[in-house]
Amino acid sequence: MYNPQDFNVKSSCIFETTELKHSKTMKTKTQIFSLCFLIPLFILQACGQSAKKTNTKTVVMENKISKTGNPYYSNTDTTKLNVSNAEWKKVLPEDVYDVMRNADTERPFTGKYWNTDEKGTYYCASCGNLLFRSGAKFASSCGWPSFFEQDNKKSVVYKNDNSLGMERIEALCGRCGGHLGHLFDDGPEPTGKRYCMNSIALDFVPDSK
Ligand code: FE
Repeated sequence: MYNPQDFNVKSSCIFETTELKHSKTMKTKTQIFSLCFLIPLFILQACGQSAKKTNTKTVVMENKISKTGNPYYSNTDTTKLNVSNAEWKKVLPEDVYDVMRNADTERPFTGKYWNTDEKGTYYCASCGNLLFRSGAKFASSCGWPSFFEQDNKKSVVYKNDNSLGMERIEALCGRCGGHLGHLFDDGPEPTGKRYCMNSIALDFVPDSK
């Protein structure tokens, strides 16, 4: 005998089975789509990471903050150095060592920078400390590169020097303590100072570089 309730139950079962099949098919399609999308994305990301690593390496190689054979040289590190003369002897060229660690003086009118006026920055030849900007350099008749002011208060420090029967003020690198030259009071305005430097104690980097 026909029972409308039976029909509803059967009909409902068939509908649910069809819906389940449809759902499974959709799930499979979604998984395939996800794989197709995710695998290329993963490959692209891997390539991107590889390219990023290469760029970082290039930047490090182009950064001029070190000098071959001198582990203390840096244009960016301002940490004070306490390195023995024996150690400096190993890493500095002989003529730089004689001036910077033995307070020797180069002959006037012979240094590299006594009559130059190129725009740029002067660093310590031993440790790379920032000493002077070219804007503070002036033409002096003394035969050594001369500046009227140091770049910042850590650039240069001073010590009384009574050697050679004279009372002078010795100018030393504020980071490594290396001898740079002397400080006099006969410079031009606005400071009236003259930082009389040895060219060999300076490492010049032009702005154009
Ligand atoms: Fe220095």
